[in-house]
Amino acid sequence: MRIYQLVQNIRSGYRPNLDEIEELLRAEGPELSHIFQAADEINRQYNGNLVHIRGIIEFSNYCRARCAYCGLNAENRELKRYRMEPDEIIEVAKEAVDAGYRTIVLQSGEDLWYTREKISYIIRRIKALGDVAITLSVGERDFEDYRKWREDGADRFLLKHETINPKIYKSLHPHSTLRNRILCLKKLKELGYQTGSGFMIGLPGQTLRDIARDILFLNNLKVDMAGIGPFIPHRGTVLKDAPAGSSEITLKTVAVSRLILKTTHLPATTALRTIDGTGAERAFRAGANVIMLKLEPYKYRRLYEIYPKPLGPEKSIREEREEMVRFLQSIGKEVAQDRGDSLRLTERQ
Ligand code: SF4
Repeated sequence: MRIYQLVQNIRSGYRPNLDEIEELLRAEGPELSHIFQAADEINRQYNGNLVHIRGIIEFSNYCRARCAYCGLNAENRELKRYRMEPDEIIEVAKEAVDAGYRTIVLQSGEDLWYTREKISYIIRRIKALGDVAITLSVGERDFEDYRKWREDGADRFLLKHETINPKIYKSLHPHSTLRNRILCLKKLKELGYQTGSGFMIGLPGQTLRDIARDILFLNNLKVDMAGIGPFIPHRGTVLKDAPAGSSEITLKTVAVSRLILKTTHLPATTALRTIDGTGAERAFRAGANVIMLKLEPYKYRRLYEIYPKPLGPEKSIREEREEMVRFLQSIGKEVAQDRGDSLRLTERQ
């Protein structure tokens, strides 16, 4: 009974504490089904029956960082590295906008070859293509870079915190600190970015208590987006023999996050779709409302391997989007036609 009452209270505006979030994460059987159903209903209440399709250009796989879980880490000497030229990135963005995308996510490793000026140039040229939102996902940079790119028109920024457990964070990120990551997130918010963060499920040493803390952190930060996906081991990392995160716990975490975060955009992450063939559909029934499709040419996609994943046959940007539209319609979802800005934006105004 307790879980049902707790879900009801959260729906009425109650902010659960750490113990209660952990309790939700431990639910099984009919109680878990109830959480999934409530998450779906809350999503429909706040976000409608809509899914936002975002296009992502992974424009460089060079990275100065050494994240222990990532195939792009600077110490992986086996990986062939690539960089897309700024004009090549803009060309791909143009094709995507012509195909109907209203959000372009620009993602790379932490690659300082892309100076403040180069990224500014890319942002300005893409913004000139029409009413299109730009999300940056380029890691920890100088705050002046963040400021300039916001002035140039970048709308959103994704920077996952990965785990709020300081010990685990330290063991996975020998090159940086959790403190700095949080500072970056706060700065991005202060600069007016729609700010996204997120974390992994199944990191070595992680407990359900940690996951509850991750959800609470996202809620306190009032994030506009949150990516929650399973850890998947990569052969080129020190964690190559660690077990992958569970899709069941990931889905449960997405649902509990939806209960608590309400309007925050939650993607059906690529990592979840990689370990679970039905992951997208299940995530959309558990409160997710966003999906990201890759846009860069296939010769680069093969090399942007944070974790191993299948690529499938080559298709055009337009074909892939149309295929996703058909899939979403087949599971009873509608495809959003607007930019899909954060619903928290109106709260802030
Ligand atoms: S997770 Fe991001 S910052 Fe870390 S090594 Fe991979 S690409 Fe670089």
